[in-house]
Amino acid sequence: MKYQSTRGAAKTVSASEAILYGLAEDGGLYVPEQFPAVSPEMLLAWSSLSYPALAAKIMALYLSDFSEEELQDICTKAYGDRFDNTQIAPLVALKKNEQILELFHGPTLAFKDMALQILPYLLTASMKKQQESKKVLILVATSGDTGKAAMEGFADVENTAIHVFYPHGGVSPAQELQMRCQKGKNIALHAVKGNFDDTQTGVKRIFSDVDFAKEIDAEGYRFSSANSMNFGRLLPQIVYYFSAYFQAVHAGAIQMGDVLNFVVPTGNFGNILSGYYAKQMGLPVGRLICASNRNNVLTDFFADGIYDRKRTFYQTSSPSMDILVSSNLERLLYEISQRDTAQVASWMEELNHAGKYQLSPAQRETVLKDFAAGYADDEQVKQTIAKVWNENNMLLDTHSAVAQCVLDHYIENSHDETATVLVSTASPYKFAADVLAAIAPEKLQKIDSSDPFAVTDLLEEATHIPVPEGIESLRKANVAKENVIERDEMKKAVLASVQQWKQQS
Ligand SMILES: *Cc1c(COP(=O)(O)O)cnc(C)c1O
Repeated sequence: MKYQSTRGAAKTVSASEAILYGLAEDGGLYVPEQFPAVSPEMLLAWSSLSYPALAAKIMALYLSDFSEEELQDICTKAYGDRFDNTQIAPLVALKKNEQILELFHGPTLAFKDMALQILPYLLTASMKKQQESKKVLILVATSGDTGKAAMEGFADVENTAIHVFYPHGGVSPAQELQMRCQKGKNIALHAVKGNFDDTQTGVKRIFSDVDFAKEIDAEGYRFSSANSMNFGRLLPQIVYYFSAYFQAVHAGAIQMGDVLNFVVPTGNFGNILSGYYAKQMGLPVGRLICASNRNNVLTDFFADGIYDRKRTFYQTSSPSMDILVSSNLERLLYEISQRDTAQVASWMEELNHAGKYQLSPAQRETVLKDFAAGYADDEQVKQTIAKVWNENNMLLDTHSAVAQCVLDHYIENSHDETATVLVSTASPYKFAADVLAAIAPEKLQKIDSSDPFAVTDLLEEATHIPVPEGIESLRKANVAKENVIERDEMKKAVLASVQQWKQQS
């Protein structure tokens, strides 16, 4: 399997090159030349595999320069005891016709672990295959969860280093604490004055700065990305759509061959795109329901075919979805334009200069065969968390609650009775203050604001759900001081950390 750029002006590469480079040299994203087809017989054979074994089967179809044994070994290491549930991504029944796929059992309590626990293995193996002589420097712009998950995955991994940027004041207290407590000799962390899009734009600029790449090269490093633009991030996410489907069959929620809908809390469009890829391979997926918060640029896109990023940016209670430029949508555009790379390049050019682009009516029709979309504001999120807690005794985090609220509206409007999986992306303890405000607001009044764990303890008191280890362990950890920089200081910060790592080694 080869990979080409969505914008068509970069050379075709192998899987290990796509993973190593992260982004294509024309600024596009690497996409597989075709989707491997999965037959009903294969589905049946796969349905009884363990999570790591299933992951190895699926990844082998895409990573043709990896051997199946190599992938089995990698998947067994990645999806093992760093997860606090042996199913890795368990499916739990919520009510008739609805199951919850819990993707927060990894070390950082958010779905990013599903890919970032395995990416370091895929990347270091790719470096060997490409005989890479430089060390790889991973640059990350994070809205909160990717940063910690990437640091956790890459900490002290040989021949790699990682520099994470997050928007100053734009992530939850637990997310910030998790990042500032991360240990590792090859790690740097900065808060940037601005929002997530400013931070992501800053990182993209560094990636496309040829002169700066030469400077870094002279220091013995090359850049790569662990953001969801890297195909190595998307691929592992395809696996849990298959796993969810098989678990729904085993639970009797559907019969093998029936279609299943998924509702996905969406920001950068990476998670839901993996579901679309699973569908392209032949998994019986009905609609993929794209759930947004008040930053509802995608809801509008699916409603009228116009992507318009020129709008107010809101900070919401679901910060990992506070995004106006969803990078992975470019990979969907590639498919719906029938792989017309010139068309994709010109849309991206329009987005860059005019801030918007528009699909043709026919293209819009095509998209709506696979997708539906909606959004929920913070008040609706709060009500949804309370309702699900009271009626179903299930505690949703703010992101998952966005999806639940959007699903309720979708069913009300469409009368679609297809069984649905809600893709739950974070532990409620990661967003404890907002979750507590929804289910027991009176408790918030007696809070000791000097104690970062006061909310955690109150949430445990209110729900009797045990605090996960990923939060518990932070109580004793050392918190690094916050490094805040201006947007135009990101390059300088990268150079400084490279020089520091060089001195250490
Ligand atoms: C990253 C994240 C999302 C958004 O996922 P995308 O792949 O960027 O669409 C949703 N919820 C949580 C908790 C996340 O960390």
